[in-house]
Amino acid sequence: MSLYADLGLRPVINARGTLTVLGGSVMDPAVLQAMTEASTAFVDLVLLQRRAGERIAGLLGVEAACITSGAAAGLTIATAALMAGDRIDAIRALPDTTGLRDQVVVLKSHRILYDQAVLLAGARFVEVGVTSAATPEQVAAAITDRTAGLFFVEEASTMRGSLPLGELITLAHDRGVPVLVDAAAELPPADNVRHYLDLGADLVVFSGGKEIGGPQSSGLIVGREPYVGHCHANSFPQHGIGRGMKTDKETIAGLVKAVELWVGRDYDLIFEQWNAVVDTVLERFAGIPELTVERGFPTEPGIQPTVIPRAYLTHATRPAADLQTALLDRDQPVAVGIENGRLAVNPQCLKPDEVPILITALQELFVP
Ligand SMILES: *Cc1c(COP(=O)(O)O)cnc(C)c1O
Repeated sequence: MSLYADLGLRPVINARGTLTVLGGSVMDPAVLQAMTEASTAFVDLVLLQRRAGERIAGLLGVEAACITSGAAAGLTIATAALMAGDRIDAIRALPDTTGLRDQVVVLKSHRILYDQAVLLAGARFVEVGVTSAATPEQVAAAITDRTAGLFFVEEASTMRGSLPLGELITLAHDRGVPVLVDAAAELPPADNVRHYLDLGADLVVFSGGKEIGGPQSSGLIVGREPYVGHCHANSFPQHGIGRGMKTDKETIAGLVKAVELWVGRDYDLIFEQWNAVVDTVLERFAGIPELTVERGFPTEPGIQPTVIPRAYLTHATRPAADLQTALLDRDQPVAVGIENGRLAVNPQCLKPDEVPILITALQELFVP
């Protein structure tokens, strides 16, 4: 890693998951190969966007798809599509929404830091309820002739103030309002790529650079027509709010290849490998005085995906935050999470040869 070293940085052993601030994911050599190939020739970008979207939709078994420069960009472009459709004057005017339906209904408990991407398109949020409670009646009352869409954040679905997505979709569709879902980090399970659409959602946003393993600056909007077509009309390389969110030919090629590989992934095997990492940690650190080790799954809102097993470590006297910092301060930094106050080892991004490094790091921390 001479480039990182030249910049005075140390590559991190990632036992935390597909965190954007750690780099999201690493790409399969075949993905890099596709990007290298794409970089050798010019091509019509409008057609490449369309054809690549169709290819990905076919691979995923969804009606349509639009490639974006990330899930956050997907939220901006999807919101623009819900407001401006494919009307060129409206597309060029955003974020000025004069004369457009520009309100996005959202449960108060679903306000997250990423939702600035919705506002970037020029929309305004109409919040429903309080963090700990909301009713279907309140949602119905919030939907008016100014409503462009209803926004649902899957990682907030376990908040006390949330309502079931299916119920919200019915409320919205009964009033002619489309539903946008942020499911950026909700893979695996692989079925989730269709699950929210099966429930009736109109547009669903995923990161390309998390579990899918595409370029870090890639993402996907999947969903129904005409909405996905409207996303294309509002996204790069068209002039509009999405023009600055560039999806270059290399990124598009890389994401197509990553999705090809992802749909063929053997999750039975991968879960076996993830469970084996957790078992290794549990076995190695059982019976150490003052240390509790247990297997579990994340239960706090905002920590995704929830189906990946964790090894949780709790020390009787040393706070999790101090332990986390100590692991990052090593010559070979190791990143672990904190969930419900416990140190959380997430096997999602660990490569087999990194497991012994993780174990050694934990050992030096816990075994005097
Ligand atoms: C990661 C994430 C995003 C942003 O995804 P990018 O692909 O990094 O733009 C948006 N929403 C949620 C819930 C996320 O976890």
